[in-house]
Amino acid sequence: MPLHSSNKEITLQGTAVSPGVAFGPVHVSARGMVAPEVYEIPHEHIEYEINRFEAAIEKTKTQLSQIQKKIEDISGDHEALIFEAHILILEDASIIKKVKTAIASRLQNAEYVYYAIIQTYCEAIRRMNDTYLAERATDIDDVAQRVIRNFNSADNEHKFEDPNPDHKHIIVAFDLTPSATATIDRQKSIGFITEQGSINSHTAILSRSLGIPAIVGIEAAVMTIKSLTFIILDGYTGRVILNPKPETITKYREIQRRKKEQENELDSIKESLTQTTDDRKITLSANIEFEHELTYVEKSGAEGIGLFRTEFYLLGGGEIPDESRQARVYSEVAKRTQPHQAIIRTLDAGGDKLPAEPLPEPEPNPFLGWRGIRVSLARQGMFKEQLRAILKASAHGKLGVMFPLISGLKELLLAKDILKECMDELNKSNTPFDPNIEIGMMIEVPSAALMAEELAKHVDFFSIGTNDLIQYTIAVDRVNKNVSNLYKPTNPAVIRLIDMTAQAAKNNGIWTGVCGEMASDLNLTPLLIGLGIDELSVGTHQLPRIKKAVRSLNYQECKELAQEAAKCRFSSQILQLSQEMAHRKYTLLID
Ligand code: PEP
Ligand code: MG
Repeated sequence: MPLHSSNKEITLQGTAVSPGVAFGPVHVSARGMVAPEVYEIPHEHIEYEINRFEAAIEKTKTQLSQIQKKIEDISGDHEALIFEAHILILEDASIIKKVKTAIASRLQNAEYVYYAIIQTYCEAIRRMNDTYLAERATDIDDVAQRVIRNFNSADNEHKFEDPNPDHKHIIVAFDLTPSATATIDRQKSIGFITEQGSINSHTAILSRSLGIPAIVGIEAAVMTIKSLTFIILDGYTGRVILNPKPETITKYREIQRRKKEQENELDSIKESLTQTTDDRKITLSANIEFEHELTYVEKSGAEGIGLFRTEFYLLGGGEIPDESRQARVYSEVAKRTQPHQAIIRTLDAGGDKLPAEPLPEPEPNPFLGWRGIRVSLARQGMFKEQLRAILKASAHGKLGVMFPLISGLKELLLAKDILKECMDELNKSNTPFDPNIEIGMMIEVPSAALMAEELAKHVDFFSIGTNDLIQYTIAVDRVNKNVSNLYKPTNPAVIRLIDMTAQAAKNNGIWTGVCGEMASDLNLTPLLIGLGIDELSVGTHQLPRIKKAVRSLNYQECKELAQEAAKCRFSSQILQLSQEMAHRKYTLLID
């Protein structure tokens, strides 16, 4: 039974992963199927909607019988049996009865009600974790898609006044893949809620960089929240309020108003330098995933791009763009970031992101598998295209190139050899590029942090990928909510590795940045500054807050704090030290 059916105010608690408040109707999105439009119907049109539903079922039955006949003629009875099974699904009396009853009780259009009921069935089947049944769910999806297509969409005469004409909505989904999150229509989708996911999943990171409030870990959300339910999504506390009372709406409007005031205050410091009160200069740059984010980078007051995650651009469209198309995008990034530097990270496929190519079978441990630089070194043609494209673009602005998931010196040297080959090729063809382009590597595997002294001799900078460094150091999957209580950025072992990295960089005269999510955590800014980090690279949305935080801190005090932290044996103690200073210096920004 959908939770909201009583229209009572109900609060659900999840994990806030992207700040902000959103108000609006819910749009529940299934795993396999594309959701049809949803709208309310007046009571007197129930029968009309039921007729539309019956007509769509009849039309689908005729189509399936025709296909079955055709297949019988071509391939024989056996193959045609699949369609026999599809017809049985279509005629399932209990589904038909449920849909008819639900059209009357929900007062929503028939195709949406049908979709929602099928979706509930499929979810229930998928959650049984049985491969055979999961395939049946796919069959059911398939039939249902056909039925939905067969609703007479040209018949608009009976469409009713839409209470939400701009179709702004909050998405509720089981999970959202990083690519689905990245392609979300920002004008319409004003928030999202998922059952799965954790604060450091790529979906959560993307929602923060897109500035869309989001909550993960709302159990059974897909099955219990009904489309069109009006909700408030509180991306600060992780609360979802269904059917809010007028006084609750007023309270949240006030929170929104106060936040807006804060944003305006932050706007005024955008152009100021990012430096502590005792003049320690920090480079504050932005993380991006797509070229279109350059507009936000320009508005945010960023001093460059510290991480361009190219995998979303390269793998998002189904086919990897060729060298010249890549060069065009990287050149645009270089030009629009001037006079600052933009660091292009080479493809980081695998893990919880898209694979570079379809794998013959799923990897047992994707995060420990064919990921990052390992893929690039194994697919040198593809790697060289990307490197040449980056080099060509370096003629148009200040670029850096960075390798992901380096686990030791050998990988780094191999990657650099390939980069050198690309430089030689461009020299031969008289193609201009910047021969002094900065070369850097991510420190996100503990073995790299432990070998930082050696590695530092071969690069111009380190960028610490704390998202992965934390998961690999503590052996805690960054997207698994069952172990998210162990995922602690202030774990003393993680802090030691960051410290070792920053020290090794200093000893070898190179700079160190942090581009993982830890850099965006206002509670941890004092600690990172104290550890001697030179650059922080964060989502554009968070950038002005971090600037304000750095400008409120004293480097000397932060250094003393880091020394204290080095003596701590528990994550909670280190967090407390840093948090206390953060609250003392810039309380207003955190709440
Ligand atoms: C990281 O691991 O911290 C990082 C920045 O890389 P990604 O999140 O893309 O894995
Ligand atoms: Mg990483």
